[in-house]
Amino acid sequence: MKQLTAITISIGDELLSGKTLDSNNAFISKQLDLIGIPVIKKIIIGDVPQDIMDSLDWAFAQADVVTLTGGLGPTHDDITKSVLCDYFEVGLKLYPDLLENLKERFARRGFKFSESNASQAEYPENASILDNPLGTAQGMHIRHEGKHLFVMAGVPREMEIVTTGQIIPILSKLTQRSISKVDIHAIGVPESTLYELSKPVLDEYSDLKVAYLPKQGMVTIRVSFPSNSSEADQKLADEIYLNIRDLKPKNIYGRDDESLPILIGRLLKEKQASVTTAESCTGGLVASLITDISGSSDYFQTGFVTYANETKMSLLGVLEETLFEHGAVSEATVSEMLEGALNRSGADYAIAISGVAGPTGGTEEKPVGTVYVGVAGRGHQQIKRFQFGNNRILNKEMSAFSALNMLRLLLEEAQS
Ligand code: AMP
Ligand code: MG
Repeated sequence: MKQLTAITISIGDELLSGKTLDSNNAFISKQLDLIGIPVIKKIIIGDVPQDIMDSLDWAFAQADVVTLTGGLGPTHDDITKSVLCDYFEVGLKLYPDLLENLKERFARRGFKFSESNASQAEYPENASILDNPLGTAQGMHIRHEGKHLFVMAGVPREMEIVTTGQIIPILSKLTQRSISKVDIHAIGVPESTLYELSKPVLDEYSDLKVAYLPKQGMVTIRVSFPSNSSEADQKLADEIYLNIRDLKPKNIYGRDDESLPILIGRLLKEKQASVTTAESCTGGLVASLITDISGSSDYFQTGFVTYANETKMSLLGVLEETLFEHGAVSEATVSEMLEGALNRSGADYAIAISGVAGPTGGTEEKPVGTVYVGVAGRGHQQIKRFQFGNNRILNKEMSAFSALNMLRLLLEEAQS
């Protein structure tokens, strides 16, 4: 079997103008990469028939697999199907069962069924239909001179389900070997340090592809390798993860889908414990991250957003003298915020944060990006001073995730 390559084409005027971010190309590339089909080029074009034709010529000349998304709706700018008919010199074929389904779907929702909706049951004669369970525009698979064209609606969630449910299974049968991967997540260590630490460990293995992906002050190390059996892949992924994690266990917190909010949720549930938050500069971001997780009501009942000194006093019982002597951004204030949050919520654990998010408000002693982050259980506290940068949003995010990581460590410590 030869190595297949792919080119992805996204269609839509809104993608060119930047009103909509072209996320479809990225999703498809990731999925194809996992089955060992690299995307060698990506094209974004407007809703222009000739451009679609030219792109198809160009893509077929260079790649074995071509994907096309967008322009499949029932409105005037949805021209993909008629362009495909012209390109392949074929007519449209009506699928009566699809037409029946469409009519039922409209009747169920109480919508009027029109001529333009009926076009959603017609597809070029040379296409096989790829079921789209989330919408009315079906996907298509067209074989052309030994190559494969896949066409999908632009709506990201519909494109995603057709890609993973239909296209990947078809292509997996044609590819040489698929790729497995493990994502290893770290916080609070620079990318360069992670690289230097992990390189000797990863160099021990042959045939690995390694990427360092920084985001929001965190870094994911993505390690990919040729797939074997699912059991062998799992074993290798586990081994690589543990070897890397042991290099910096305080900073390397999880793998793959394990985010900090998921991990602390898991730990709190295991201990049947609850957490509360007392937030100043993060404005409720920690509470928001915690409650992103379904089932978080088991361990999160109350969070305090005390942005002003007055509410730090009235809601949390922080003393006026403390604020006066040490300032709101101080270890002493965060300590009292922790204590107040625990006492007033009745939770078992607390997170408290106070800092200078910026870009204004810094002083020589406490420049922009100075953040005190504290975590506490009943009877003990831990508070750290962080020095982040000048970007307000990034400072909020890094403070929030650092707090969650400190809580993870506290919970894990309490467990062992
Ligand atoms: P269409 O299939 O062209 O009618 O597009 C349906 C919806 O999906 C529109 O809201 C488009 O903006 C959106 N969409 C189309 N192509 C993409 C893309 N490549 N990435 C993200 N969204 C898209
Ligand atoms: Mg469109």
